[in-house]
Amino acid sequence: MRMCAMALASSKSKWAAMTNAEIIKAVEEKQLAFYALEQALAPDYERAIEIRREVVKAKWCPSAADTHPLETVPFKNYEWDRVVGQCCENIVGYVPIPLGVAGPLLIDGKKIGLPMATTEGALIASTNRGANAINSSGGCTTAVLKEGMTRAPVVEVDSLEEAAALVKFCEENLSILQEAFESTTRFGKLKSIKCAVAGRKVFLRFVAFTGDAMGMNMITKGCDKALEVLKQHVPSMRVLALSGNYCTDKKPSAINWIEGRGKTVVAEALIKADVVEKTLKCSVDSIVSLNKDKNLVGSAMAGSVGGFNAHAANVVAAVYIATGQDPAQVVESATCITSMDKVGSDLLISVTMPSIEVGAVGGGTGLPAQRALLEVMGCAGANKEEPGANSRQLARVVAGAVLCGELSLMSGLAAGHLLSAHMKLNRKPPQ
Ligand code: ADP
Repeated sequence: MRMCAMALASSKSKWAAMTNAEIIKAVEEKQLAFYALEQALAPDYERAIEIRREVVKAKWCPSAADTHPLETVPFKNYEWDRVVGQCCENIVGYVPIPLGVAGPLLIDGKKIGLPMATTEGALIASTNRGANAINSSGGCTTAVLKEGMTRAPVVEVDSLEEAAALVKFCEENLSILQEAFESTTRFGKLKSIKCAVAGRKVFLRFVAFTGDAMGMNMITKGCDKALEVLKQHVPSMRVLALSGNYCTDKKPSAINWIEGRGKTVVAEALIKADVVEKTLKCSVDSIVSLNKDKNLVGSAMAGSVGGFNAHAANVVAAVYIATGQDPAQVVESATCITSMDKVGSDLLISVTMPSIEVGAVGGGTGLPAQRALLEVMGCAGANKEEPGANSRQLARVVAGAVLCGELSLMSGLAAGHLLSAHMKLNRKPPQ
């Protein structure tokens, strides 16, 4: 062990002592791998990245321009030690994305600012208008109805009979698999396994509580161990893949819409009739009627799964990028049914979102700016007293932000203002 560590240390100092030109030559001559620059020059990651940019500029996309286009991509003064080995490989810089805030929104009695990273003009202004209307009516309330990240390995056995026996074993011996799963994690708790058989293949959809983490790494480790133990009881079982798409991660699917994935959250608000008229510039009747025609009938006509909303994905994507969530999970996190009813003379609006996948620890949530924005929202990092409380709070805020977006866009459409608002906020007059 000691020899190995010493060898690594001396080879590292070898690279550190070389000039950039010498290292670039070594990469070009394949004495040093393109991907291994950070490892060779650690802890000076900025230098490693600077050298990779030179290699890319010279070999991948030479440019005749005085200033190479890659020069426009920033790379300095970033906390690369939080990125290397965790968030990104073959690093050449970072992409700055504009960040705005909407709100603060009164959610469950607390005012919370909504950070949104976006390049879509009018989105934040619209969300902000929705927040104003909700705040003027006393705020919104949320409920977390269900919680559980999922991972579904696919396994194969030698007969249909064995497939049925495997399902029965999982149903009758959950505690054995829970013990195995939970031996891999301090926070993960296996709640259930939903089995589906297709011929001799069995899909095992593990559902687990993952504390304040979004939980994909945690649940994958737990599944791996549980399968090892399952194999002791069903020796003919072969694991085809740790993910068999019955999870379903980052792809549209009915199972997430019906069963939920991550947090299942509802947010609602009762908007006073005069706020609908004065702030949102439409009538309760017109917005309720449009919600039926567009979000229910229109989406049904389109054969939608989980798309019974106006633009939940816009808000989810902007909040996810701002707070270091996995943007690919917008696919299922943004499934949402927006409901509107007239109650007395007021408007009752709700968003029901079965699959909000968020974490307050892990992944991109540890990057400085993303973490700071989670702090601004009051849900950064691990909740020591009640693990899971911070990620649940973040899921509530996501649903609240979507509620604002739905209210504002739907009222804009009902009033016929959508195009004029976009033209005003999205299109700079020609210079
Ligand atoms: P994910 O499972 O979302 O991909 P990671 O496994 O990469 O996330 O990060 C979660 C890490 O944070 C784990 O190592 C876990 O032990 C640690 N952790 C610390 N506190 C908590 C908490 N309250 N809830 C969940 N994980 C926590």
